[in-house]
Amino acid sequence: MDTLYANARIAGTDKPQDLLVEEGRFTRIGEGLARELPAQGYDMTGIETVDLNGKLVCPPFCDTHLHLDYVFTARKPGAANESGTLFEGIQRWSDTKADLTVDEVKTRARKAVAMELRHGVQYIRSHADVTDPNLTSLKALLELREELKDVVTIQIVSFPQEGMYSYRGPHGETGAELVEEGLRMGADCVGGIPHYEACREFGERSMHTVVDLAVKYGRLIDVHCDETDDPNSRFVELLAALAHAEGIGEMTTASHTCSLGSADNSYFFHLTKLLKAARINFACAPTENLYLQGRQDTFPKRRGITRVKELTDNGINVSLGQDSMQDPWYPLGNGNMMIILDYVLHLAQMMSFAELDDALKFPTVNGATTMHLGDGYGIAEGRPANFIVLDATTPFEAVYERADVVRSVRAGCTLFTAETTVDTDLPIMRG
Ligand SMILES: [Zn+2]
Repeated sequence: MDTLYANARIAGTDKPQDLLVEEGRFTRIGEGLARELPAQGYDMTGIETVDLNGKLVCPPFCDTHLHLDYVFTARKPGAANESGTLFEGIQRWSDTKADLTVDEVKTRARKAVAMELRHGVQYIRSHADVTDPNLTSLKALLELREELKDVVTIQIVSFPQEGMYSYRGPHGETGAELVEEGLRMGADCVGGIPHYEACREFGERSMHTVVDLAVKYGRLIDVHCDETDDPNSRFVELLAALAHAEGIGEMTTASHTCSLGSADNSYFFHLTKLLKAARINFACAPTENLYLQGRQDTFPKRRGITRVKELTDNGINVSLGQDSMQDPWYPLGNGNMMIILDYVLHLAQMMSFAELDDALKFPTVNGATTMHLGDGYGIAEGRPANFIVLDATTPFEAVYERADVVRSVRAGCTLFTAETTVDTDLPIMRG
């Protein structure tokens, strides 16, 4: 349905804006359109007007790091992570993943997507564990990506959870071979996990393989990179250098990079030059890593997240991820990016008023940059009418209130409003 959304507050504008949405796209954006268009003789037949009452409108949230195949497995027998470490999480998953089926993964993932949607997310980058000879997770998420594409954009990473060169399948297949098979099947991104490999050389080799595969298949890159407090875990420099050499830095994301939170300043100072040149993206999962890292510390205890403030101050793109919803790595998580944002602002000490006023960029435009969404994303004439309405009138208020999302619109169709709910039997309500 064509709709005129009146009285929207858009960050960076002083006065309320009206947004005309026709055939799923923004066709006019400006002040006073509700009054001017009829006066100009514009045919308003069939155009509904919705008054947004000065609420804040922004592009939909992007969750740039999530594992949809793992969600709601935390209470499975044998899955409990006693130590709370990343490495026990991987072991517990490995021990308990043999009974996955495509339907079972899809059922859990659908529920998680519905929760994310209800919090204003319309773009998800999900990893799919391919260190499984049956590629069950990947098959499930590929089906879901297609089935839900009208309500959510899902990018899938062909991700070797148990390593490219440390994993061997029952027929001797390597994780690297399974990652490549995942790309042939249609995954959007190449994944890796160099800090988990059995030795540094395997990790380095895996970074070469990741970049080679991205070039070969023309895909994006998203590596679980240096997710450890070990300051000597430095795979991000190799990933950045290789991606830069191939001219694909902007298509590349280093997820986690917790080790940068422990590295010394002189190393980071030198690394910054490469990161700025390569223009790779960073994805931070603050709640997850606050929980998982620092587990070998007594006190002082490290925070475990990457240098969000310092990367941002250097013009390097950082986006955010929920990462887990009740899986062997993290027992909570509900897909609310305002909670994730709240954590990162505290942990990274980004609380100047300039930083707070600009903070919504992390779950919105920065996420879109990581996901390489280009002109398909954002509030501008000609672009798809995808947006959310927050229960706040300014970005600052949205941040300090951890504002609810009161409306989500996708290609001009309303996915939900404050008065309705998202049905877990997606696809859902169409406007
Ligand atoms: Zn992850």
